Amino acid sequence: MENCVFCKIIKKEIPAEIVYEDEEIMAFKDINPAAPVHILVIPKKHIEKLTDITTEDEMLIGKIYTVINKVAEKMGISENGFRVIANCGENGGQEVKHIHFHILGGKRLGDKIVG
Ligand code: AMP
Ligand code: ZN
Repeated sequence: MENCVFCKIIKKEIPAEIVYEDEEIMAFKDINPAAPVHILVIPKKHIEKLTDITTEDEMLIGKIYTVINKVAEKMGISENGFRVIANCGENGGQEVKHIHFHILGGKRLGDKIVG
C-alpha cells in the first residue's frame, strides 16, 4: 500500500532494525521504545487492523505467534516473560494502519494494561 510506513519498511524503502524476516512476516525494533525490548511483528500482507482479518488470514495470524516466540527467544526475554499488544482502531489507539503486534519486555511491566 502506498503511503503505509510499514509497507515501506517491508520494501526496504525506509530503514528499520529488522530482527526477523521470512516471506510472510517481518519483525523490527520500535522507533520509540516503551520498554527495554520493544519489537513490532507484522505480516507483509497489508491488513489494516484486527477487524480486517478474514478466515483466509488464519494461518498467517497463527504464524505471527510462533514468530513472536522466536523473536522473544532471540531478544532474550523468553524466560522472564513479556507482553503482546495489538491496538485496533481509534479507541484502541492504533496509529499505524498496518496491523502490528507489539512485543514488550526486558523489565517487569506495570500491572495495568489500560493507560
Ligand atoms: P500503534 O499506536 O499501535 O499504531 O503503534 C505504532 C508503533 O509504531 C509506535 O509504537 C511507533 O513508535 C512505531 N513506529 C512508527 N513508525 C515507525 C518506524 N518507522 N519504525 C519503527 N517503529 C515505528
Ligand atoms: Zn502496509
